[in-house]
Amino acid sequence: MSQDIRVRFAPSPTGPLHIGGLRTALFNYLFARKHGGAFILRIEDTDRTRYVPGAEQYINEALAWCRLDPDEGPLQGGGFGPYRQSERKEIYSRYAFRLVEKGNAYYAFDTPEELDRLRKEYEAKGETFIYDARTRYTLRNSLTMERSMTEELISKGEPYVIRFMFEPGQEIRMKDLVRGEVVVDSSTLDDKVLYKSDGMPTYHLANVVDDVLMAVSHVIRGEEWLPSLPLHVSMYRALEWENMMPHFAHLPLILKPTGKGKLSKRDGEKGGFPVFPLKWEDPETGEISPGYREEGYLPEACINLLALLGWNPGTDQELFSLEELIREFSIGKIGRSGAKFDPEKAKWFNHQHLQMIPEEELSVAFCRILKEKGIGCEADRMKALVPLIRPRINFIHEFWDQAWFFFRRPESYDPATVKKRWKEHTPAEMRMLMKLLEKCDPFTSAHIEKEVKGLIEKNGWGTGAVMNTWRLLLVGSSTGPALFDLAEFLGREEVIARMEKGIRELSV
Ligand code: GLU
Repeated sequence: MSQDIRVRFAPSPTGPLHIGGLRTALFNYLFARKHGGAFILRIEDTDRTRYVPGAEQYINEALAWCRLDPDEGPLQGGGFGPYRQSERKEIYSRYAFRLVEKGNAYYAFDTPEELDRLRKEYEAKGETFIYDARTRYTLRNSLTMERSMTEELISKGEPYVIRFMFEPGQEIRMKDLVRGEVVVDSSTLDDKVLYKSDGMPTYHLANVVDDVLMAVSHVIRGEEWLPSLPLHVSMYRALEWENMMPHFAHLPLILKPTGKGKLSKRDGEKGGFPVFPLKWEDPETGEISPGYREEGYLPEACINLLALLGWNPGTDQELFSLEELIREFSIGKIGRSGAKFDPEKAKWFNHQHLQMIPEEELSVAFCRILKEKGIGCEADRMKALVPLIRPRINFIHEFWDQAWFFFRRPESYDPATVKKRWKEHTPAEMRMLMKLLEKCDPFTSAHIEKEVKGLIEKNGWGTGAVMNTWRLLLVGSSTGPALFDLAEFLGREEVIARMEKGIRELSV
């Protein structure tokens, strides 16, 4: 494939971008990069009633955080702009009128009140009102009026909408790259509004027109848009644009952790995990929704976990860099069934990507935390510390919890461990260990290990008991990284001081 590959991510700025939206952006990006094509950002903001200030900026920031940089877009520019639909308003009407002229659409003058009344009447009969082939000939539109009447109403400025008209009883055949052939009976479709007399197109018209005018070759979007496909395909055909119609690929839903239903904001609130890439403060209510970035996720981990929601490399490989994803990605490997979101697995991905960060980068992040605690950083010591702490954390912010005892003496001792480990004979044993350590030279992890193990063996002590008691003296509890490494890091003097303090305080 070639430069002719052009894909777009077309979010509506109606609130924070959901991770499902970010996955759509990612798949479009991967496809574009893989084939040397263009990744376009198009802001679909024609529905001004749902416009939320800050949402477009949020989209830009989320894409930038994940390194999914558009080639064309409102900020990037490009040869097919403008890339905000509200700035393309004048373009759309001509296509709506063309559809009317060709007999594929019509003017409808029914007021919102009239339609509301009809909905209620139908509801009372236990039915649903649908504006379609069964009802359209009984309503106030250009199909039921004389042409002169329609023209008069329009010239008088009576508000109208333009609706697409499906011929009933037709099989609409479409191809989806994920699902194969899809066939829909046109009788099941309603006459969707394409354009309003205030000059604004609806999503359907603007979307189809822009995909053609922006020479989009592939539409990769969420499954929730699959029901719109018959309308879109019918519009391409009616406008005689079939040869310019993009290929379609609809991505499977992202499901709740239980696998039942679509992942929602509420699932995140209930389960304590973010469903948005970045933190979002609702400009109206002030409500704050957590974001992956602020929760300490690495963008690399986010990308990796999103890539595997609905796409399968066909191997057991789970860890991917963005570059590897670009290499491996193909639409053919997108699945049809919903992809369950697993918040625990999300943490696992972060843990794994944390292990891959260059040591210096992690060291800088850890130093920042130390600085906040008023602790200075020495390059050599950090070099020793990073490999000890890194395997023990899922997030950088967990560093202090796992590492404080490298810098501070324990102030208290975990009562459960004390109860279990501190016996009558313990102080004497710990003193023997102390004596050994005083003479242990060099004071390196490997050498300390050898000496301590020798002492344990010579005296026939239980390794677990001795090590855990020693750990209790050094860190105040029974958990932490390898003790010999910790001892080397602390140095002989500090190890002895901590042991003396512990023996003194626990022996009363
Ligand atoms: N504006 C639509 C959305 O918000 C775009 C759907 C499409 O990609 O066609 O998801």
